[in-house]
Amino acid sequence: MRRISRRLLFTGGAGVLGITVLTGCSSSPSSSPPASSAEETPVPAASGAVAGDWRRVNMSYVSAYLLVRGGEVAIVDLGTPGSGNAIEAGLKAAGAGWSAVKHVILTHLHDDHIGGLTDVAPKVNAAIYAGSGDLSSIISEKPLKPLVEGDEVFGLRIVETPGHTLGHISVFEPTTGILVAGDALRTTGGLQGSDPQYTTDESKAAASVRKLAGLDIKAILPGHGEPLTAGAAKALKDLAATMP
Ligand SMILES: [Zn+2]
Repeated sequence: MRRISRRLLFTGGAGVLGITVLTGCSSSPSSSPPASSAEETPVPAASGAVAGDWRRVNMSYVSAYLLVRGGEVAIVDLGTPGSGNAIEAGLKAAGAGWSAVKHVILTHLHDDHIGGLTDVAPKVNAAIYAGSGDLSSIISEKPLKPLVEGDEVFGLRIVETPGHTLGHISVFEPTTGILVAGDALRTTGGLQGSDPQYTTDESKAAASVRKLAGLDIKAILPGHGEPLTAGAAKALKDLAATMP
């Protein structure tokens, strides 16, 4: 609960609303919040998860995310080199292990997202995917499968979000509205787009933010910064409106 209220404070003073919702989260119909606050209601999260069935592997500077469903695991991004232990700890916390990992999706070619590949690839019997535009720049001992717009992996929809890198992809779970955004979005200092300092094509990155704002997104799990699990749709639309 402390975590959630901190996150809500971070999203801009919605803490009071969030606490109201939490105290009434026994899902009795009579305690449903007024319609005006519905958008600020955090998306439900399974025990130990940050949103839905998604767990965060927080490596301080960067995060990887694990989706644990039906005894199988999909991992999005692998963090910096040497991150294998952190990811293994995340799997253990979820009651899983390397053998449960069936899918590894890399959002883009940067070392803070694929650095763990050397560690992880030998440990998993999983399909490893990257966006078709970035794939050839990623060194991997195992073959990588290309992903393009609209592809589906483990019930997750691939959304091409070029700009940060030209082959950057984001991962959207349509059933929950949860978006794993890689570096197309970040929440370091409020919701923002790709960090210009590390962006290959800023106009493409801006267009990708506008594109994401057109999806029914309820939570954003970014590579950098805290997950945004309440008010994400409005924050994203507000951000898109500022994009050139
Ligand atoms: Zn990054």
